[in-house]
Formats: sequence, structure tokens, C-alpha cells
Amino acid sequence: MSNRIFINKVIAALREILPGDSGVIALHEPAFEGGDWEKVRHCLDTGWVSYAGEFVQEFDRMLAAFCGVKHAISVSSGTAALHVSLGLIGVQRNDEVLLPALTFVASANALSYLGAQPHFVDSCPETLGPDIARIQEYLEGIAFINDRGECMNKHTGRRIVAIMPVHVFGHPADMKKVQDLAKRWNLKIVEDAAEALGSLYKGRPAGSLGDIAALSFNGNKIITTGGGGAILTDNDEIAASARHVTTTAKVKHPWRFMHDRVAYNYRMPNINAALGCAQMERIDGLLVAKRRLAAQYEEIFSNFDGLRFFKEPEYAKSNYWLNALLLNEETAAELEKILKETNEMGIMTRPVWDLMNSLPMYQDCPSMNLEVATNLSKRLINIPSSPFLAA
Ligand SMILES: *Cc1c(COP(=O)(O)O)cnc(C)c1O
Repeated sequence: MSNRIFINKVIAALREILPGDSGVIALHEPAFEGGDWEKVRHCLDTGWVSYAGEFVQEFDRMLAAFCGVKHAISVSSGTAALHVSLGLIGVQRNDEVLLPALTFVASANALSYLGAQPHFVDSCPETLGPDIARIQEYLEGIAFINDRGECMNKHTGRRIVAIMPVHVFGHPADMKKVQDLAKRWNLKIVEDAAEALGSLYKGRPAGSLGDIAALSFNGNKIITTGGGGAILTDNDEIAASARHVTTTAKVKHPWRFMHDRVAYNYRMPNINAALGCAQMERIDGLLVAKRRLAAQYEEIFSNFDGLRFFKEPEYAKSNYWLNALLLNEETAAELEKILKETNEMGIMTRPVWDLMNSLPMYQDCPSMNLEVATNLSKRLINIPSSPFLAA
């Protein structure tokens, strides 16, 4: 099959699934309904648009129940949620944290805000999560446990304190393996569940499978609050600290402005939480629509010469936040052309992120061999995934 025929076949398949006459088809767009308008209007009508009001607590309650955790603390972004989460589980200046090179830059940035070092690990081609078997082997070579029980990097002399699995495109990482590795090396687990609200790992919600987790409600995520995020944890003390440090560490008092540490203004405003509450009321329907769209893509791209549709791991039920195609070794050279032609015709497609170790600020960070992530990054294409595209 010639390259031209292959590209034409990919475009024809996308056209068959996607609406033909609606202008540009975005990668992922929110859709708003009556309840969204009603709750946001309520904030405007009552004046409760900012940092107090009923919707923030209500949103936190809904998130915690939905994700099967004791506490959810909504904040102003997913990045803020990661930043605070990492600090609260004990990441300090000069510590290292294991995280995939194949992730969105926010995962690495959140660590850097604490003065900690990303330490990049490779990805598993079946799940896009961290390749735990190879990380285990890698740590055997470069790490040891000191007499305080801390995992130390032999080469840098720094502590390795945590692993941050990322549930890429909503597909859960193999968390049992992550948990076993964390136990062996005495690491905390910070789930970057920014993309995975509603995904299940062996029946358990993403975001409930580590020591702490972060969600994002940016405009392109499965539900949105305009911008926002949340910290999830079962730990009462960590939850209390999370609320404290995200609200300028203000000590409760009827009138005084008293603050007991340097802290952040990371609160989610009530008007954003109102939108979040309305969206959470609809999330089950959104998840059904997402899986229907994924099933349609899966069918049209089944037995397709030159690529395959990226399916959820067998242990998981994914939210299919972003659908992805994986080109073969032989068709990988067509990636740029497919991106160019689809975008020019108004079908928004995107490559996966540039790997973190290739970015100027992160290229000197410690890292294991990243051959799988490097290979995947040349072959993955994200295709339009808004829930309302499902027939
Ligand atoms: C979206 C996202 C974030 C950050 O969320 P923001 O709300 O945009 O700050 C972090 N990690 C991953 C993997 C994401 O996709």
C-alpha cells in the first residue's frame, strides 16, 4: 500500500465517524446544558462568585463520593493540585521523583516549584503508564535503601521519595505494579489523574489508588470548571493541611487576618465550582458518550493496515478522555503529513507531547533509557474526542 493510499484511508475513516458540516472539529470541547447555566446564573444572582459560597463544598463532596475517597479539595488548576499534593506527601528541595517522560509538562513543573528534580522513567507500550518491570530493574542498578529506610540515588546522592504515575489519555496505569514497586523502594505514590476522572482500575476509581491524587478541570478535560483541579486523599491530616495551604493559611477567626505560614491562593472560586457541580450531575452520561465514540473509532480502525486504535488496558475501564491512533513502525514516517492534512481540513488532530527530557529546562534531569516513550512519541496521534461527537 502506498503512503498516499494509507493517508487517504485514515482520513476517510475519520470522516465516516465525524460530522461533515460543522466547521472545525476540536480535539476536545466542553458542551454546556441547562443545569450549567442555571448554577452559574445562581452565583451571579446571589453575588457569591468568589471564595465563599455553597458550591465549593458541594463540589468537593460530589468528587470525593464519585472517586471513592474520603476527601476532595478543589483548587484553581490541576497543576496547583499536583504542586500541593507533592509538598504534602513530603517532597522537599533536592529530592527526586520518578515520573514518565511521556506526560504533560505540568507534572514536571509541579515538582520543580518545590525545588525537586524530575527523574524520568520509560512507558509501557500497552498502557502508556510507567513500565514497572523495567523501572524495578533500573532501580536495582542505581538505587539503594539507606539506614533510615529512604531510597537513595547512588549517582546523585539525592533521595528518591515518590513515583508519579500518569493515567495517560485516561487509561489507568497498572497500579498494582506501581504499589508493589512503591512498597519495595519505600516511595509515596502521587497519582496524576488529571485526565482520568471516571476511569476505573480493576473496578476502583483512578485517583483513589495512591497516597494522594490530582485531578484537572481545565476546559479540555472530561468535565470542566473553566479552569480548576482537585486534590484527592483518604488521609484526614493531609486533607486539613491541603485546605489550609490552598487558602493562604488563614487561621479561623471572626475578624482578624491571621496567617500561620507561607501559603498559596489556590482556592477554586464558587462560580467555577457551580459549573463543576452541574457537570458532575451529568458525568455518567458523558462517560457513556465517550465510550460510545471510542467504540465507533475502534470498529472503523479494526484490522486497519498500518495503524491501530489505542484500547484501554484489559484490567481497566477507561474514560477514553482522548482517543489515540498508534501508527506502525512502517507508517510512522507519515505522522507529520497526517497531522498537516487533517488539521488543514478542519479535523483537529495532535501528536503526543514532546517528551519531558527533550524540553530545554528538563534535558539534564536524571533518566532511565527512554526508548519506548521515544518510539511511542513518533507514532501516537490524538483524534477528536468530544463526547457529543458520538453517534
Ligand atoms: C491537564 C493536565 C495537568 C494539569 O492540569 P491544569 O488544570 O491544566 O493545570 C496535569 N497533568 C496532566 C497529565 C494533564 O493532562
